[in-house]
Amino acid sequence: MLSADDCMRYCKMEFYCPHCNTRLSPCETPPFHIGDGLGWGAEVMFVCLNDECPPFVNGWQHIEESYGHVGSYRYMRLANEEKGELMMVGNKMAFTGSVLDPEVIMAANHRYHQEKEWVEQLNTCVEEKNLTPVLGILLDEKSSLVNKMKASRMLVPLNDLSCIDALRNQQYTDANLEHQINQAIVELLQKNFMKECPDCMEIVKKKAAKCKHCGKNLE
Ligand SMILES: [Zn+2]
Ligand SMILES: [Zn+2]
Repeated sequence: MLSADDCMRYCKMEFYCPHCNTRLSPCETPPFHIGDGLGWGAEVMFVCLNDECPPFVNGWQHIEESYGHVGSYRYMRLANEEKGELMMVGNKMAFTGSVLDPEVIMAANHRYHQEKEWVEQLNTCVEEKNLTPVLGILLDEKSSLVNKMKASRMLVPLNDLSCIDALRNQQYTDANLEHQINQAIVELLQKNFMKECPDCMEIVKKKAAKCKHCGKNLE
C-alpha cells in the first residue's frame, strides 16, 4: 500500500507526453502482471489520458488491423525511467479510475489520523468528561468496528445524556454494535431517572406523567 506521503510525492511529479505534451496523470498500477510477468516495477505510473493524443486516436485502427481486437495505445512512463512507452488499453476508461487525486488522499489521510487521535483519547475520555472522541468514532461511518465497539463501552461511564440524540439518528450496519449502543442508552436513562417519550423521542423525567415537548400522556 502506498502511504499518503508517497502519493503526494507522486502527485507533485511533472512529466509530459512526448506525443501531445499533456501532463501525465499519476495512476496506481494495476495489481496484476503484464507481458513477460515482470510486472510494472513501480506502484505508480504516469499515463497520458488525453483522448486527443495521436497514438490513442490512431491506435484503434492499428490494433484492429494488426491484432483483430478492440484497443488502442496510451503513452505511459514510470517515475524512475527516462523513457516511456505506449501500452495497450482495451477501452477509453482504462486507468481513468486509478488516477491519484491529492484531495482524496489528503482527506483520507486526515480522517485516518483523526480516528487514531480519537482512539487514544478514549483512554482518558471518562476522567476528562470528553464525549468528543466517543461520538467522533461512533458517528464516522469509516471508523473500524473494533474502535466503535470500544467507544460504545465508554457511553455509560461518561454518563452524558447529550449523546443520545446523535446516537439515535445514526444508522448502524452491525447488529452487535447497534445492540450495545441501545443497551447503553437504556442504562444511561435509568441511571439518570429519565426516559424517552415514545412519541417524540425527547428525554423527559421518568416520573413525568405528560411529555413536556409534545404533550403525550405518559401515565
Ligand atoms: Zn499524449
Ligand atoms: Zn413527547
